[in-house]
Amino acid sequence: MLGMNRDITRRDFINGASAAIGSTFISPSLHASTTNKSLSSAQNATGYYPPILEGMRGSHPGSFEIGHLIRDGKRWDNSVDSVDTGEMFDLVVVGGGISGLAAAYFFQKEHGLDTRILIIENHDDFGGHAKRNEFQYKDRMLIDLGGAEFIENPNSYPEQARALIDDLGIDTSQSREVFNHELYSSLGLRGGIFFESNAFAKDKLVAGKQGLYNNKYQSGYVTLPAELENSIGLQKDVRAFLDQAPLSTIARDEIIELFAGETDYLPGMSLDEKVIKLRSLSYKDFLKEVVGVTNETLEFFHMWRASYMGNALDLTPTLNAMRYGLPGVKGLGLNDYLKSGRQPHNNHDDFHFPDGNASVARLIVRRLIPDAASGSTMHDIISTRFDYSKLDQPKQPVKIRLNSTAVNVQHINEKTVEITYVEGQSTNRVRAKNCVMACYHAIVPHICPELPGKQKEALRKTIRMPLVSISVLLDNWNAFKKLGIKSAYCPSSFASDVRLAYPLKFDDYESATKPDEPIMLHMYRIPVAGDGTFAREQFRLGRHELLAMPFEVFERNIRDQLARMLKDGGFDPAREIKGITVNRWPHGYAVGYNYESESIGYFSDRQEWPDEKRLWLTGRTRYGRIAFANSDANASAMNETAIEQAYRATQELTNAS
Ligand SMILES: Cc1cc2nc3c(=O)[nH]c(=O)nc-3n(C[C@H](O)[C@H](O)[C@H](O)COP(=O)(O)OP(=O)(O)OC[C@H]3O[C@@H](n4cnc5c(N)ncnc54)[C@H](O)[C@@H]3O)c2cc1C
Repeated sequence: MLGMNRDITRRDFINGASAAIGSTFISPSLHASTTNKSLSSAQNATGYYPPILEGMRGSHPGSFEIGHLIRDGKRWDNSVDSVDTGEMFDLVVVGGGISGLAAAYFFQKEHGLDTRILIIENHDDFGGHAKRNEFQYKDRMLIDLGGAEFIENPNSYPEQARALIDDLGIDTSQSREVFNHELYSSLGLRGGIFFESNAFAKDKLVAGKQGLYNNKYQSGYVTLPAELENSIGLQKDVRAFLDQAPLSTIARDEIIELFAGETDYLPGMSLDEKVIKLRSLSYKDFLKEVVGVTNETLEFFHMWRASYMGNALDLTPTLNAMRYGLPGVKGLGLNDYLKSGRQPHNNHDDFHFPDGNASVARLIVRRLIPDAASGSTMHDIISTRFDYSKLDQPKQPVKIRLNSTAVNVQHINEKTVEITYVEGQSTNRVRAKNCVMACYHAIVPHICPELPGKQKEALRKTIRMPLVSISVLLDNWNAFKKLGIKSAYCPSSFASDVRLAYPLKFDDYESATKPDEPIMLHMYRIPVAGDGTFAREQFRLGRHELLAMPFEVFERNIRDQLARMLKDGGFDPAREIKGITVNRWPHGYAVGYNYESESIGYFSDRQEWPDEKRLWLTGRTRYGRIAFANSDANASAMNETAIEQAYRATQELTNAS
């Protein structure tokens, strides 16, 4: 029994729309009506608190429909179609993700606390990918991330991003204090691999060997048995691990050879020639065509690090796959070359909040609108409950208007931009002296009609990788304890990565430390075919899958996978799963590369790309009083990029005044 008919908490929110938000949210009118902003907005309703909504989140119903109408040709460029709210701002920001919030922060810092700023965001919550999932169970609060996971390598943060996180009070030097790196290993838990019978001989979970699991990849996305990571010199242990796997002897030998062997797969080539070749060859093709492995071995590696990279190995250039730990390096003589191209980075320095980078978003919002939340530290931000009715109040200089999609952004004279947006049943327009577009760049050409054709073309070609970040509330994790795993790589399963919550402890919040306690489980699904077709096409089909798949199908697959994977640990999905939130991100990682005629490139060395392929440079060019932020503006799916681009955009506006 999977327990599909069992109550999961707040199942009435199954489609991600709360009673408070109601139907105005799901079927927005396309016509103008009178408006009284602060009274009519859904976010002002009593009890409005989106982090606790379960079911379909991320790009939730009600957030994208207007955007898709725009994509399909609907236009709001005639002012008679909207109501003038009479508001005039110093800055309007379109998009309330990290970049949009950071733009508001930088602009306020530069121009003073009285600066009038409006942030327009189409989701029911702020933060964009930096999303919080919150659960209440057995009288305690359990928190998980719905998207952006952590502040990666904060020691290498660029200047403005570093200044912002310091100013918010995020003390990244506490990364090892807040993250208990010993907890799971002290309980004998390590990474494992779940072989599922759809691609392998039978369902089988193989746990890594105890005692060897003590390397720098213990945290972060990486969910592999460390023996495979650390295999050089440990052939016996790799062999012992693989001997338990439902793999043929040939496949086992191939995998061992890749990890521990010294074969030069490109004999006779100089280092430079190898680098050039491996830059333009996908890792999948490297395995298939250069190494010549069997299909079984290809299946084994298929989704390795997929949640980190956002794609299967057919889209990752070999050189970059190897830089991120894929095997085959030693015999090729690339060890030193790969090390030299990489900044030193110890994963224990990465900084994790329980809700991921949602805490960064919450800290910025608390700074911009102090009435919205109490507290003053990076510790108390974790359990602070925001009062969403304070986010858009007439007397405050900074306002965040949720559930609102910008549909037209245009100068009405040299010094003023008019921004039209749809919110529920209303279509309204406001004016601003400056505007920062911090939304996905692909939508910009549809809503900024006056941009030059070349810039529109560049923006139109921007793409994002789709991915799904899933939070599952479990009553306990005894099955994990019994099986000896804290995480699993699942090469052929619905979700390719499964892991228990990061063991975090802040002043106000601690995740589970005993297997009897409720815990958050995190899973990733990467909806790409991995079949070698062009990335743009794979991402388009992946996006389609995400929007077409009902929550019930996600739920069934999640329950089925966990039931199979954990069955020998006595796991009963009907009894132990207490909540599920599916955060689908059809517009996930920023990529920005012109994938029109290329099948690989995401993780390739960008400095090598010719200028004509760096389309984001054209796309982000300031136009009058409109500037462009967002991680798309530097084609890099990173928190620090989102912040740096916000700084650049606001500086451009200030300097052009
Ligand atoms: C699952 C996942 C995990 C990630 N993990 C990490 C991580 O661990 N570390 C890291 O550094 N980065 C991570 N990232 C990358 C993440 O994208 C960036 O770090 C950053 O959060 C991006 O912020 P942004 O503001 O540029 O874009 P977004 O977060 O995409 O925000 C843009 C906002 O604009 C809104 N918008 C779009 N069009 C309109 C419109 N017309 N009107 C109003 N609003 C609009 C969007 O809905 C969105 O809310 C992750 C991304 C995903 C998807």
